[in-house]
Amino acid sequence: MTHRDDIVAAMDLGIKGRVAMIAAASKGLGRATAEALAREGCVISVCSRSKPSFGDLAVACDVTNADDLRRWYDATAEKFGQVDIVVTNTGGPPAANFMTLTEEQWRLGIDSTLMNVIRLCRLAIPGMQQRQWGRIVHITSFVSKQPTELLTVSSTLRAGISALTKTLGDQVARDGITVNAVLPGHFLTDRQKQLSEIRAKEQNITPEEYLAKAVSAIPVGRYGKPEELADAIAFLCSERAAFITGSSVLVDGGQYRGTF
Ligand code: NAP
Repeated sequence: MTHRDDIVAAMDLGIKGRVAMIAAASKGLGRATAEALAREGCVISVCSRSKPSFGDLAVACDVTNADDLRRWYDATAEKFGQVDIVVTNTGGPPAANFMTLTEEQWRLGIDSTLMNVIRLCRLAIPGMQQRQWGRIVHITSFVSKQPTELLTVSSTLRAGISALTKTLGDQVARDGITVNAVLPGHFLTDRQKQLSEIRAKEQNITPEEYLAKAVSAIPVGRYGKPEELADAIAFLCSERAAFITGSSVLVDGGQYRGTF
């Protein structure tokens, strides 16, 4: 047993048997989150455009599509009887500077980054209200607090999701439902590698050079491990986090430059 296994084994978050839906989870941050919740004994329903190869239920679903989301929600509720935990996630909206973004890219960004979140909440909350228990966590980005040029769409919409997190959290707090967002900094997933290729091209360096340079902006001196974000999400989904709601929680190795 490694030191990390000891830590994981020692934590009982009180959510054994809870039914958890994790969106966009065939790899990267979504997959790590599904694995963390599975370790806590949750029943796992996952989706992505290509059907994930793990989970108690795995569905091919494009989160930009309202019908797909309903089909995934209905299949989960029908198979397991209820949905207790929802983690919203997506592949990341188009990456470009404002003047190069098209109307179509903005619309795609809105459908894939904001409407997916709204729609999943609308599907899941009525059942959570009936049972007076629920956990909703949105995987967004630290750009919701510190916007960047390349991530114009993500910065704009994710700041909106933090506002939604706060107001929705208020509106369902007395139903035993918490709503929080986690704001990842830099985690070395396929999405991060793809962004590093674009940024490297802009700066006329190699992606490897860009990645090495970008680490210098992270106070802990390294990229995050997906399971480190997943652990924060698992805690927010837990019984123990019942008094945390409406929060936007940075998980960024100290990268965000503001005080609040
Ligand atoms: P990733 O490793 O590229 O994984 C993306 C996952 O989303 C895959 O499972 C993919 O599977 C699925 N997906 C993509 N588009 C989808 C869609 N329309 N419908 C359903 N599933 C979809 O990306 P990641 O790094 O985990 O990023 C996850 C989210 O975190 C993104 O929104 C990203 O903006 C945000 N984020 C990441 C970082 C980071 O450092 N990695 C930092 C800040 C924010 P399919 O291709 O099969 O659909």
